[in-house]
Amino acid sequence: MTDIKRRKFVTLMGATATIVPVSALVASLPSHAADLVDPESAQAKALQYAAETPDAAKHCSNCALYSGAEGDESGPCPLFPGAAVSANAWCSAYVPKG
Ligand code: SF4
Repeated sequence: MTDIKRRKFVTLMGATATIVPVSALVASLPSHAADLVDPESAQAKALQYAAETPDAAKHCSNCALYSGAEGDESGPCPLFPGAAVSANAWCSAYVPKG
């Protein structure tokens, strides 16, 4: 390998090493970075999802199915894969945390 090819190879490897960790970081972003549930979606309507709970004592952040971190404004719920539910939302599948 000539010096020029080696330098180009080393430069490309350095650039690749920089890009890979950035993409790994983006892929590891918490799921609450996902879009919020669309209250007009068929799933939301079927579960009577409300972006603001009608009962202050019952909301996603104290539902057993919610897996967002405490204090987060939204988080994942297995009933809405690929979207986040608002911590203050509610749906008819609500189960109080035990
Ligand atoms: S089941 Fe309903 S109330 Fe419980 S976290 Fe999911 S959307 Fe919120």
